Amino acid sequence: MRVTPQGLYCVPGDFFIDPGRAVPRAIITHGHADHARPDHDHVLASAETLGIMQARMGEGRAGRQRQVAVPGEVVRHRDVEIRLVPAGHVLGSCQVVLDWQGSRIVISGDYKRRRDPTCAPFEPVTCDVFVTEATFGLPVFRHPDAAAEVARLLESLRLFPDRAHLVGVYALGKAQRLIALLREAGWDRTIYLHGALLKLCELYEAFGVKLGPLAPVPAPAKRGAGGLLAGEVVLAPPSAEATAWIRRLAEPLVCAASGWMRVRQRAKARGVELPLIISDHADWDELLATIDEVQAPEIWVTHGRDDALVHAMALRGLRGRALHLLGRGEEDEDPVPPETAPAETATEQIA
Ligand SMILES: [Zn+2]
Ligand SMILES: [Zn+2]
Repeated sequence: MRVTPQGLYCVPGDFFIDPGRAVPRAIITHGHADHARPDHDHVLASAETLGIMQARMGEGRAGRQRQVAVPGEVVRHRDVEIRLVPAGHVLGSCQVVLDWQGSRIVISGDYKRRRDPTCAPFEPVTCDVFVTEATFGLPVFRHPDAAAEVARLLESLRLFPDRAHLVGVYALGKAQRLIALLREAGWDRTIYLHGALLKLCELYEAFGVKLGPLAPVPAPAKRGAGGLLAGEVVLAPPSAEATAWIRRLAEPLVCAASGWMRVRQRAKARGVELPLIISDHADWDELLATIDEVQAPEIWVTHGRDDALVHAMALRGLRGRALHLLGRGEEDEDPVPPETAPAETATEQIA
C-alpha cells in the first residue's frame, strides 16, 4: 500500500481506494464527494454506493465499468483478496478489507459506531494495519445521544408552533438519518425538503429505507411572499439558509445537525439558533474503542485531527502514521450537485 498524489494505492492489486482524481481502477468506500470522484475507468463498490454515484454524477460519469461487491463477499483481483464490510456511516458505506500474502489492511473510509436506522452497522475486522479517519479526533468531541438531540428539536416545535424549523443537513446521509430518527420519535407529519435533497431521499426509499411522508417545499403564492410551513420541519442543505429561498418560510428558526455543532462559535458564526449535535463520524471515544477492537499494531490516519490521535496511539504502544490525504473531510462544504436541484433553487444557491 502506497500513498500517492491520487490517494491510497494498492501496489499488488494495481488499484486505488477513494482516489481524489480519475484513475483506471478504484474501490469506493461511500458516496460522499470527498471519496467518490467521477470518471474512473473501473469502479468496485457496494450496489448502494454505485447507485448514489449515478444519482449525483449522472450515469455517464460514475465509472465506465461498474462492479458491484456484496458486503462480506470476497472478490479476487490479481493476488489480492478484496472484501467490503459495512462502515455504518451512510447508506452503502463500507470498509475495504485487503488480504495479501498473509497480511491484512483495513481501510475504514468514514465510519461511526452509533446506531443508524438508515444503514448497516460498522463491523470491526481484526487486521495488521488499520486506516482510520479522525474527523472528530480530539477528546473534546464526544457526541451526545442522537435521540436526545431530536427530542430537543421536537420540544422547540412545541414551544414555537408559529415558526418553520429549518434544519441544515448534508444531502447524503444526515438528511435521511434525521428523518428516520424523527419517525422513531413519533413525528409522523409530512417533512418538507429543499429540492436538493429529494433525489437522494428517493434513492434511499428505493433501497428499502422507509422515510415516511416527504414533500418539496411549496413555492410562495406570490414572489417574495413568506409565511409558509409554520410548525413544520423543513430540511435543506447548509448553504440554503443564506439564500433568498429561506424567505418563503414562516419566521424560520434555523437549526443545523452536525458534529461540528459541538463548537459553539461555529454554530454562532453560521447563525444557527438551535444546534443539534448529530454526527455520522466516530467521536473520540469511538475512534479509540475501534482501534482497540481491530487489534492492529499499526494505525494510519487519513484526515482530520490526526496529530491528537497519532499521539494517543503512541501512548498505547501502537505505531501511528498521519497520511494527510488531500481533499478529505470536505464533504461538510459539499456543494449541492446541480443535477439534484430544480433550476429555480439552483440559481438561488449560487447567490
Ligand atoms: Zn463521508
Ligand atoms: Zn469523508
